[in-house]
Amino acid sequence: MTQDFSGFSESDPLHIETLAIRTGQLRTSEGSHGEPIFTTSSFVFESAAQAAARFAGTEPGFIYSRFSNPTVNAFEQRLAALEGAERCVATASGMAAILSTIMALLQSGDEIICSRSVFGTTNVLLEKYLKKFGVVTRFVALTDSAQWQAAITPKTKLLFLETPSNPLCEVADIPQLAQLAHANNALLVVDNCFCTPALQRPLEMGADIVLHSATKFLDGQGRCIGGAVCGSKVLMDEVYGFLRSAGPTLSPFNAWVFLKGLETLSLRMQAHSANALRLADWLEQHPAVEKVYYCGLPTHPQHLLARKQQDAFGGVLSFLVKGGREQAWQVIDSTKILSITANLGDTKSTITHPATTTHGRLSDADKAQAGITENLVRVAVGLEHINDLKRDLARGLDRLRG
Ligand SMILES: *Cc1c(COP(=O)(O)O)cnc(C)c1O
Repeated sequence: MTQDFSGFSESDPLHIETLAIRTGQLRTSEGSHGEPIFTTSSFVFESAAQAAARFAGTEPGFIYSRFSNPTVNAFEQRLAALEGAERCVATASGMAAILSTIMALLQSGDEIICSRSVFGTTNVLLEKYLKKFGVVTRFVALTDSAQWQAAITPKTKLLFLETPSNPLCEVADIPQLAQLAHANNALLVVDNCFCTPALQRPLEMGADIVLHSATKFLDGQGRCIGGAVCGSKVLMDEVYGFLRSAGPTLSPFNAWVFLKGLETLSLRMQAHSANALRLADWLEQHPAVEKVYYCGLPTHPQHLLARKQQDAFGGVLSFLVKGGREQAWQVIDSTKILSITANLGDTKSTITHPATTTHGRLSDADKAQAGITENLVRVAVGLEHINDLKRDLARGLDRLRG
């Protein structure tokens, strides 16, 4: 049983906070207020004829949970509403979202242009695995439109990026890159993990596909792994077709966790952003800090662009301490509240040294090109009180100064 929202007109749609709570509501015949978890691998039919009709696709309905499941569907509908997508397809992880998109839409000989500053495993997937099947990726600098333009060939099928980027918080011009993609019969794919639809809706700006690691801010409390792909019905039907055959589907339990996560998403993203901006301001004033990378700071080179395409600046920032690896590690090791872990998008703040963890695999030359220096520290700002976070970081930073 789902709720009927007809009567709210197209010209005056429901707000994102409401959609995040009310879309995809799922109630049992008993009238459960909370969405139930359908822990079932398969669904029964009333007759052989109904089974045949379901398999033939002439009658809608559930068949098997690798294909679809009511709890998973509820999550898909809710996220689609937030991203303004015709359809969303949930996946077992963020990486499965990326893999499924590429497997469904590309073939051997096609080319991808990808921002150099994407999630490390995305790089591995493209360079090590997809390359084996003849899909070639060219890497470019996220904010240099001339490089994107120069990398286009008649074989280009996808432009792929994350914005803001990790860990330097660079911001890509989504409408401009969408235009470039479309002028060349290619699709623009945006990994919207850092902003989430609560702060940025790439489809409204011309992107064709938005994908997510739901593991991060959509869950928001570091509980489970999942992902999603959103876009037009035509494209998502293809992605769904791959997923149904290859099998990296989302579990109903994880879908339920993400459904609940979405209900508080707007509130959390505003709070993460407010905490991160205060922390960035404070770090910028600290004498042991050489530079802060956060697109919410007026000193950030793409600050105006970030203001234009985002509703706030997100929860991830990084900074350079004065010194090198030893000083960066000292600041990290002096914290008692922040968790030393590479994960992000959690209520718990985390701190990491990109050069030796998330970006440790890169060659020295690639690190230098990507701006991943030994004195760089990344903080994914959680929802603890800002003064406690400052106190925790001050312990190590004050010692450096002295
Ligand atoms: C974590 C992450 C991924 C991968 O997601 P998983 O859920 O870990 O598979 C992809 N993109 C970005 C930006 C991420 O932060």
